[in-house]
Amino acid sequence: MSAMEENLKRVRDEIEKCREHSLTGEEVKLIAVTKTHGVDVMKEAIDLGVTDVGENKVQELTEKMDLIGDKVRYHMIGNLQSNKVKYIYQDVALIHSLDRSSLAKEIEKRAKQTDHIVPCLLQVNIGDEASKGGLAYDGVLPFLESILDYKHIKVDGLMAIAPNTEDEAYLRKLFRKMFALKEDIDNRHYEGVHMTHLSMGMSNDFGIAIEEGANMVRVGSRIFGKRHY
Ligand SMILES: *Cc1c(COP(=O)(O)O)cnc(C)c1O
Repeated sequence: MSAMEENLKRVRDEIEKCREHSLTGEEVKLIAVTKTHGVDVMKEAIDLGVTDVGENKVQELTEKMDLIGDKVRYHMIGNLQSNKVKYIYQDVALIHSLDRSSLAKEIEKRAKQTDHIVPCLLQVNIGDEASKGGLAYDGVLPFLESILDYKHIKVDGLMAIAPNTEDEAYLRKLFRKMFALKEDIDNRHYEGVHMTHLSMGMSNDFGIAIEEGANMVRVGSRIFGKRHY
């Protein structure tokens, strides 16, 4: 077994173990975060059964899409500049980082021109950290209501990046708040809005995130090792 295969097996086993006693018992989708790693690494992951990959930079994402094609689904998980929307909106399975009006406007404008529907998650700055993108927790509902008329954006759930901390109780509290927000939005039955995905949990915290209701985790270093920038 290669190192990647072993790592993947461990991650998948842990996902399954946590899912069994999670809040929802729901299936969990693994997004393998391949950022900074080459196409050979992505190919190896695909051969090992990875169906979804995550990238955080538009240029890196488009380069890999060009070389690998449609053998895998691509997720844009990083901060997205409006002027780069045009390069990816037709090809990504999901944009996890919708967090501001200017970006929503640009996605809507482009997608309308080419008659696409772009699935997006609303990114929430759950730890209220200045260094991170995302909507303030209390800003999510007003923002969502402000884009309900955008018929070419499909809001499919929420995404959060938890603070980098060992404080498990604090992480649990934040993940719980995310789950509560997802439930709240679902209960409002906005037309065309479905809280299908709750994307939270990374290498250090995906187990906790799953237990608290995540059904999509974004895992990089636990599968591919340390990143070299
Ligand atoms: C890099 C990244 C991840 C994966 O991080 P790891 O700690 O390596 O698992 C997940 N989500 C986002 C948004 C990232 O940028």
